[in-house]
Amino acid sequence: MIPNDYSDVTQQVSTGSLPAKTRVEELLQDAYERYVDVDDGMLAYYIPILGEVDPSLFALSLSNVGGTVQGVGDVGQSFSIQSISKMFVYALVLQELGHDTVRDHVGVNNTGMSFNSVMAIELNDGHPMNPMVNAGALATSALMPGLTAAEKWENIREGLSAFAGRYLRMDGEVYRSESRSNERNKALGRLLKAHGQLEGEPLEIVDIYTRQCSLKVTSHDLAIMGATLADGGVNPVTGERVVSADVCRDVLAVVAANGLYEKSGEWLFEIGIPAKSGVSGGIVAIAPGKGAIGAFSPLLDEAGNSVRSQLAIGHLSRALGLNLFASAPQRPEKET
Ligand code: GLU
Repeated sequence: MIPNDYSDVTQQVSTGSLPAKTRVEELLQDAYERYVDVDDGMLAYYIPILGEVDPSLFALSLSNVGGTVQGVGDVGQSFSIQSISKMFVYALVLQELGHDTVRDHVGVNNTGMSFNSVMAIELNDGHPMNPMVNAGALATSALMPGLTAAEKWENIREGLSAFAGRYLRMDGEVYRSESRSNERNKALGRLLKAHGQLEGEPLEIVDIYTRQCSLKVTSHDLAIMGATLADGGVNPVTGERVVSADVCRDVLAVVAANGLYEKSGEWLFEIGIPAKSGVSGGIVAIAPGKGAIGAFSPLLDEAGNSVRSQLAIGHLSRALGLNLFASAPQRPEKET
């Protein structure tokens, strides 16, 4: 279940803007203090080096679309972006190839299965289904412009760096650790190729994908990257246009349906904003037109979503009025 331990927080209705800086600071602090002692969950065990991370790390950042970035906790701590890279590579590919082509190649529907499911491919005639599961992410990275694998990778790194507003570097240890243990992703790549659903050489594409997953970010970076998607594709800190407003809309729709693995429906029901998580413990949640929250804490639930990050974002979504589905009547109700 998606944790929902914030029933004591008044549900604020979306007003179109975030509260003042001091109020945001109070709410970030409050969310941090509420959940800093939660120690449920486990470290990502299947990428060996991620099993060695300090489980007590906890960071919360928020960037609004005006470029103000605030945070609390271990905001300077870097971690590998992992699956969260999928949404930004998807945005770059949509920008290059357009809505229809990418929809047909990669799909948009939830699989209801784990992020690295082989069965999901087989049950869907070899189709990768959506860009937020590994099969779809491989198909998406394969569509990235570039004549060689090295060019595709550099384009991904440059694109993700533009989202963050700074040059992102790889975590070499994470890259090597995952490269030694990613037989399943190699199998997914080969299976897609066998079904004619992957452009290029499967092992090269898996390597590009492993590199993009190992890019190092902080919770501040995630907040700024997310706020770029909340701001019609313009990075609110650097002012650079990274993708179009149409791309942001398409990405956020797909992320809303698929961002939290097989718990995406529950997440939308409980929290009500598009969010993407990764197995190193990051989650980025986007409030279109307002900003984004970047959260990091390494202990994960059974689906691979950071426990503390979910709790803190849930709290903030409610207290800041981010839930896309919450409304209140415009006029007072009539007495009957
Ligand atoms: N690099 C990880 C993998 O492909 C990412 C998984 C995730 O964050 O969901 O297995």
